Amino acid sequence: MNKFHSTRSTTDSLTSKQAIRKGIADDGGLFVTDELGERLVPIDDLAGRSYQQIAYDVLSVLLDDFTEEELKACITKAYGPQWSDERITPVKPLGQDWVMELFHGPTSAFKDVALQILPRFMARTTPADGDPDEKIMIVTATSGDTGKAALAGFADAEGTGITVFYPQGRVSRVQELQMTTQQGSNVNVCAVEGNFDDAQSTVKKIFGDRDLAARLEKDAHVALSSANSINVGRLVPQVVYYFSAYAQLLEQQAVNVGDPVDFVVPTGNFGDVLAGYYAKMLGLPVRQLVVASDRNNVLFDFLTTGTYNRKRPFYETISPSMDILISSNLERMLYYMSEKDPRLTAYLMNDLAEWGAFEVPPELLAQIRRLFATGWADEDQVRRMIAECFSEHGYVLDPHTACGYFVMQQMPADPGVPRVLLSTASPYKFPRVVNEALGLKHDGTDFECMDELSEKTGTEIPPMLRSLETADVRFRDCVEISDMGHYVEQCADRL
Ligand SMILES: *Cc1c(COP(=O)(O)O)cnc(C)c1O
Repeated sequence: MNKFHSTRSTTDSLTSKQAIRKGIADDGGLFVTDELGERLVPIDDLAGRSYQQIAYDVLSVLLDDFTEEELKACITKAYGPQWSDERITPVKPLGQDWVMELFHGPTSAFKDVALQILPRFMARTTPADGDPDEKIMIVTATSGDTGKAALAGFADAEGTGITVFYPQGRVSRVQELQMTTQQGSNVNVCAVEGNFDDAQSTVKKIFGDRDLAARLEKDAHVALSSANSINVGRLVPQVVYYFSAYAQLLEQQAVNVGDPVDFVVPTGNFGDVLAGYYAKMLGLPVRQLVVASDRNNVLFDFLTTGTYNRKRPFYETISPSMDILISSNLERMLYYMSEKDPRLTAYLMNDLAEWGAFEVPPELLAQIRRLFATGWADEDQVRRMIAECFSEHGYVLDPHTACGYFVMQQMPADPGVPRVLLSTASPYKFPRVVNEALGLKHDGTDFECMDELSEKTGTEIPPMLRSLETADVRFRDCVEISDMGHYVEQCADRL
């Protein structure tokens, strides 16, 4: 059975259920398993398999302490009629290339792929110390999309509550309304005075606060856990769509079994692209993974120089879900790429915490660069790409996907290797920016922008987004960074 331990030490030995329930290791590291890659996912008969079947193939390898019934029940419920496309993550032609749309779930962002199933995994885990009354409180910081997707996944899920913090004024109006109108008796939404990195760092501190954990356990029977992509249960479901992409390319006769494929991935916390790396380790013929950033190009600098330096200006861009200076999941990549060296990983992460920067040895950088290519786009380039892609292909990109599109255009195409651009959000989540880029009317409300975009491009507005205009706002709280821990305690008491 797969055993999970921290990226920073090998002392833990947890099952996947335990790792999912716990979220993050006590030493601040992320859970990894050294068995990754020992059992491969067969690709010979991928063509014709449904998303749900592929999901079972992949999840049963990685989460091998779940029974077949458990996994199948989770998969059926998570990837059902709440998706607007029965292929779940459809792959469509885009000129000479391909685009995989990850936004057909209930909140119109790719995070639904993982967050529709994580609560169902969580419900099948059991308390570590045998407190049968123990409930789980999910605490999450969001740069915009995770929050809503997590709320939608965990709303009214038995035995759990959820508290979401978002940086005030730094998410789009649509994103904010998506969160503050969330229904459910176990949900809490709160704005924070600070940026996403401040909020995420504080959430990590809350997880590391042993006194708080003891109080919550004793007074409220509550244990904290995470729905950010640091949670194994969030990462693993994302591996599935890389295999699904390959299946669809096989069906469209764009590849034969074994042919290599490149993936271009709009990146923030490094979760999505890391899932592509896992897919490769599980046997998918991935040639290159292209890390596409926005103006917060800390990953671009790292992948080109070997130095990761978070001490730099933080830019609020039109792609807010990629406005991140600390890409948490990079830690997992460093662990695997350093041939599973927890001491090196701990050392680098300590440098990052202490000095705001770290540098990897040159051999390690060379190794990383063989697989990961990189590029970034500034905001003018993003706007230009939205316009260009629509005029050339009649396809409307959201600003995040447009970063990836720009980077893809910059790279020489190899006719023998198909390229799949991962589309991470519906353009209707960012209608004002998209309209502006397309030269459409963008001075009314976000909903007027949606209507205009739909009318002028002949594309459909996701009904859940359009209906936000008349939904009731339930949450108006806003706290300072220093009060986040206290806020979580209050929410736990109410659970
Ligand atoms: C979260 C998000 C990303 C970045 O994904 P990571 O897994 O954090 O790298 C990109 N685009 C959108 C729309 C997102 O919501």
